[in-house]
Amino acid sequence: MNSKARTDVAPALRIIPREQHIISRKNISKAALRVLYRLNESGYDAFLVGGAVRDLLLGGKPKDFDVATNATPDEVKKLFRNCRLIGRRFRLAHVVFGPEIIEVATFRGTGEEEGAEGERHIVDGRIVRDNVWGSIEEDALRRDFRVNAMYYDISDFSVRDYVGGMQDLEDRVLRLIGDPATRYREDPVRMLRAVRLAAKLGFRIDDAASAPFAELGVLLAEAAPARLFDESLKMFLAGYGLQSFRMLEQCGLLKFMFPATARALERGDEALRALVEQGLANTDERVAEGKSVTPAFLFAVLLWGEVRDLAYAWMEQGMDNNEAWARAALRVVGEQCQRVAIPRRFTFTMEEIWSLQPRFEQIQRKKVFRLLTHPRFRAAFDFLLLRAHESPAVRELGQWWAHAQQLPHETLAAALPNHSGGTAEPAAPAARKRRRRRRPSGKPGTT
Ligand code: ATP
Ligand code: MG
Repeated sequence: MNSKARTDVAPALRIIPREQHIISRKNISKAALRVLYRLNESGYDAFLVGGAVRDLLLGGKPKDFDVATNATPDEVKKLFRNCRLIGRRFRLAHVVFGPEIIEVATFRGTGEEEGAEGERHIVDGRIVRDNVWGSIEEDALRRDFRVNAMYYDISDFSVRDYVGGMQDLEDRVLRLIGDPATRYREDPVRMLRAVRLAAKLGFRIDDAASAPFAELGVLLAEAAPARLFDESLKMFLAGYGLQSFRMLEQCGLLKFMFPATARALERGDEALRALVEQGLANTDERVAEGKSVTPAFLFAVLLWGEVRDLAYAWMEQGMDNNEAWARAALRVVGEQCQRVAIPRRFTFTMEEIWSLQPRFEQIQRKKVFRLLTHPRFRAAFDFLLLRAHESPAVRELGQWWAHAQQLPHETLAAALPNHSGGTAEPAAPAARKRRRRRRPSGKPGTT
């Protein structure tokens, strides 16, 4: 079944000599060059491949440099002291240069699928069809998009294009290699890669490549949640998150990755849409400025609509505030992690960001100071600012807290009431009155 996609695409090699393309060794990392030269000097074929070649041909800066060779992993290991072999089914060599890792992969033959679930190939606990080495032609055909299947040859600096990738770069389009439905069935994550790469490169997805989404999107439910987590980081935290998100929704794939988000947006929750769009735009901006970004904040943004609605609904039914928030978070995170496995350290922070939101409404001296010194105050406050579209009251609350942080301790303390009954100066936000929740008094164990 796996080989079907390949038999219908006969490789027609086009070699683009050095003078006819723009890839210069200046733009290739020193580490990658060392690996390429070393392999080549030792008598092996050595190529830069995949996203790096694609990005260099577009005049961009590759995120990572991958190398393909006919040397086996063991042979690669013999050449480099700083080399470790990784992967069970696909043995790969990682050559380590300080913070930079060059991934060196042996040409793979057919019958192998990157990202296909390991279990499928396990018989009696034994991994079968593991590490099937192949020719460079076969290696090209098992890749996903034509633009991702070009090889830069270190021996003469030419580019080898087996499947028409150059044409697609010119047309700014993503075309799959082989029959799209077959390729997505082999590995549904390729649908997400189409969306992500289109967003990143500003390319369109070829009609033939996007047509199967409607029918095959559901296969993403079978993809490993840990892999979807990695993929969602690449989508949302690599500098083109807003565009990825919009395309994911347009393509109808959002619901398979973030069902709660898709539901809330389908209900017409425009405040959530504004929150998500602004949150992603801010994240993209931070990435562009080289600042750090945290997955927790972004996942908290994506899932907020459902958490908030559930918590409020339960509070209306008389559930204790803290319990309502905690349960809403648990429910929403629980559902989400069946799709995208968000590690515990992030879900913990998400829950904190959410549960601090109602505490912004409590403008009493002790509570205000406790919140200001909370380790997660900054993230929670940034989150509150993003929620401005929810209502004028929330916007006002954000302004109040922004102002409060500017005031000297004494001034702020003097302006705040000691308990919930009093009035605060500077004017306490309206949200406090409107949103104050009944809290059953004296109920133990609900802090
Ligand atoms: P990025 O710029 O985000 O790194 P990339 O195309 O380099 O994009 P990688 O995940 O680094 O993406 O993969 C490197 C190469 O491996 C790809 O260019 C492609 O040739 C191949 N590849 C990756 N994932 C798949 C897949 N699921 N199916 C087939 N080929 C894949
Ligand atoms: Mg890459």
